[in-house]
Amino acid sequence: MNLSHSSTKATYPVYKNASGWNAMLPIRQPHLALPKQSRFDTIVIGAGYTGLAAARRLAELEPDRQILVIDANTVGESSAGRNSGFVINLPHNTKLGGHTSPLEVAKKQIHIYDAGLQLLANTVREQGIECGWNPIGKYHAAATDAGIKNLKATMQQYREWGVPFTELDNTALRERLGTSYYRFGYHSPHNVFVQPAALIRGLADTLPENVHLLESEPVIALQGNGPFTVKTVRSEFQAERIILANNGFAKALGILSDRLFSIYTYAAVTPRLPESELSKLGTESEWGVIPANRLGSTLRRIQGGRLMIRSAYSYEKEQDESKTRALLTQSYKQRYPQMASYQFEYLWGGTTALTRNGATFFGQVRPGLYASLGCNGAGVLKGSIYGTLLAELATGSQSQLLTEALSLEAPTWLPPEPFRRIGVVSAIRYQAALAGLER
Ligand SMILES: Cc1cc2nc3c(=O)[nH]c(=O)nc-3n(C[C@H](O)[C@H](O)[C@H](O)COP(=O)(O)OP(=O)(O)OC[C@H]3O[C@@H](n4cnc5c(N)ncnc54)[C@H](O)[C@@H]3O)c2cc1C
Repeated sequence: MNLSHSSTKATYPVYKNASGWNAMLPIRQPHLALPKQSRFDTIVIGAGYTGLAAARRLAELEPDRQILVIDANTVGESSAGRNSGFVINLPHNTKLGGHTSPLEVAKKQIHIYDAGLQLLANTVREQGIECGWNPIGKYHAAATDAGIKNLKATMQQYREWGVPFTELDNTALRERLGTSYYRFGYHSPHNVFVQPAALIRGLADTLPENVHLLESEPVIALQGNGPFTVKTVRSEFQAERIILANNGFAKALGILSDRLFSIYTYAAVTPRLPESELSKLGTESEWGVIPANRLGSTLRRIQGGRLMIRSAYSYEKEQDESKTRALLTQSYKQRYPQMASYQFEYLWGGTTALTRNGATFFGQVRPGLYASLGCNGAGVLKGSIYGTLLAELATGSQSQLLTEALSLEAPTWLPPEPFRRIGVVSAIRYQAALAGLER
């Protein structure tokens, strides 16, 4: 479990550009001071949705014990503050198998996510976190025959799951979104919009008193078997229990390296648009569109009169900014040829962890070491509930939700490099070609 064998690989995410969401907020003072003590009862590695939810729940369950949360970045600058801000309480991966039928698996996931949404909504309300929480659902839209087929297959699954949605044709979509680009789609109520950097900052800045937060302090090695030693760039800490919540970067610490990989995806936000331009973006003041192909573009009209676009994947490394800018600009132009200009005020990349079968690792890695890793791109809600449940698992609590989370399929094996890279890069290229106009 030490890093000497992998010193050439990134052990934590380092980004080329700041997160636009974070840049739109007032400056925040990060927690940079090293704590006086070096021993803690639990150390949580990663202050994203998973890590902060785990720390919050552990602090509630063990109010007399001390918890240290360490993150390599400042809060708001990691993926938790770089994502598109869709808090979706439906299964993202509808093809997960397991020991029961796909319908049973979907129902368990829906049960877990509904509980997660309730929990997150309560925390936001009780802690007074101002993050633009807006439960208005989301659109799914297709511009191609293949995209329409994908959406119709998902709609059929929704019918089987008993999940509501409203089917929309090109005219209805044009009225709501201001573009005639999409030929078919539907609206699903299962989504809340947030300003993600505001949400993660709010979650970090309202942690209970027995949680110590340390930011901008990369963990570079994890050693021992309880007590564990956590080595960081500036210091070293010990704990009897570790919660690993650093997503795809867990593999750099020697954990699940044959199950996880990281991809980068990219987003850009326009400046505040004048009323004359905003009127071209449909009748609603806030909306979001999920593409009909995984390699397609996500769109979001955000509070405050801006448009966000997210698209493209790259394997384990951030691609050139010029390439990203060209792709996102093209996406914007294709959908809104009537706009006066196509400027972006912010453009950034962010990482997320994927697994081969789309399953998240959730549970005990070995005694004292617990992990929830591999959110597969929908981790705002998943991280919030899995982090909470992980704290319950670590403290020996029992509940139906925990039993359900533990019963879901685990990530499958990935081949080693260079086969892994070749496989993932080929899959990205193939999917991008298939996506066509959904990009
Ligand atoms: C552009 C983009 C758009 C997205 N859109 C959405 C969306 O709309 N909805 C959605 O649900 N999800 C979305 N995602 C995915 C979402 O951001 C992740 O699923 C979510 O952040 C996962 O939460 P997490 O806490 O499990 O992991 P992360 O948020 O990745 O948190 C892991 C933390 O660990 C830290 N870390 C890593 N290595 C180390 C180390 N060695 N030492 C210390 N700390 C370390 C990182 O800095 C990070 O803060 C998007 C992602 C991107 C990049």
